Amino acid sequence: MNDLQLDDFKTDEEKGAMVLLVDDQAMIGEAVRRGLANEENIDFHFCADPHQAIAQAVRIKPTVILQDLVMPGLDGLSLVREYRNHPATKDIPIIVLSTKEDPLIKSAAFAAGANDYLVKLPDNIELVARIRYHSRSYLTLLQRDAAYRALRVSQQQLLDTNLVLQRLMNSDGLTGLSNRRHFDEYLELEWRRSLRDQSQLSLLMIDVDYFKSYNDSFGHLEGDEALRKVATAIRDASARPSDLPARYGGEEFALVLPNTSQGGARLVAEKLRQTVAALKIPHIAPAEGSSLTISIGLSTITPQPGSDCRQLILAADKGLYLAKNNGRNQVGIA
Ligand code: GH3
Ligand code: MG
Ligand code: MG
Repeated sequence: MNDLQLDDFKTDEEKGAMVLLVDDQAMIGEAVRRGLANEENIDFHFCADPHQAIAQAVRIKPTVILQDLVMPGLDGLSLVREYRNHPATKDIPIIVLSTKEDPLIKSAAFAAGANDYLVKLPDNIELVARIRYHSRSYLTLLQRDAAYRALRVSQQQLLDTNLVLQRLMNSDGLTGLSNRRHFDEYLELEWRRSLRDQSQLSLLMIDVDYFKSYNDSFGHLEGDEALRKVATAIRDASARPSDLPARYGGEEFALVLPNTSQGGARLVAEKLRQTVAALKIPHIAPAEGSSLTISIGLSTITPQPGSDCRQLILAADKGLYLAKNNGRNQVGIA
């Protein structure tokens, strides 16, 4: 509703007309002023200098312009074209005031962009009727434009809100990584893509070592903080836009690496393991003075028809089991 103003909520009758007469003859200005003086809801402005016409129109925002055709120094038709080319006046209805009923002048006036043609000085009833008619259609146009603008703004807000919701729905509250739901969706998608392309899909299953005892000794809040640090390291380890770091559950994380060979995945895993160790988060397990570490299970598969992405998770789990059994803080491949 940003673009709507108080005026937009008034009825057309309440808003009324704002007339700008551009004519070099003060006598005409006076005659029209008198003609409109007793009309309700019609405001009148007179401009005797055609060179000031555009500036004045921009300032007073008329709903109708009455434009004289013959003025010294500036041709009325050129002025009509100027109104049409100016962003502030391009849609304002223009009634051309001519001295005679001439088909050639008339067609030139309409070609230049005039909306109506009257011979001076018209009967007051006709002049008022035309002013009201053009004014009303112009105000309706403005209202419609404002409504469209407001609609576009609210549509954009809706799109933005949906994006935020989508992001919230897919992310884990503690770490900001993808959550389990999104991980499942993504792995399924990448599995099918790799099946089509016959490319290698790699997966890292990452588990924090001795984390139960970390919680037991430092408390759950410190535990949460440690999980956030590990999550950041995992996020930094995913170099490609297609890599997906996720919180699998509890102190377990996953990293999906599409289009990645076992050798490539091993490099990523080893670097990640070292990064977490280098954080030197103090821990009391396996021994006093230790640092927090992670174990990683790695699997790489080129999917075959009739297979299932659970294969990849099972294989990574086996690798993780090996890593734990062999003493933790290492990468295991089944
Ligand atoms: P291992 O080296 O074999 O992996 O041992 P572990 O202690 O890490 O494994 P275990 O599965 O026994 O314990 C995992 C712990 O992770 C238990 C639970 O309290 C903790 N945990 C799971 N989710 C969260 C969490 O969101 N915040 C915190 N602070 N702790 C969590
Ligand atoms: Mg675990
Ligand atoms: Mg653990």
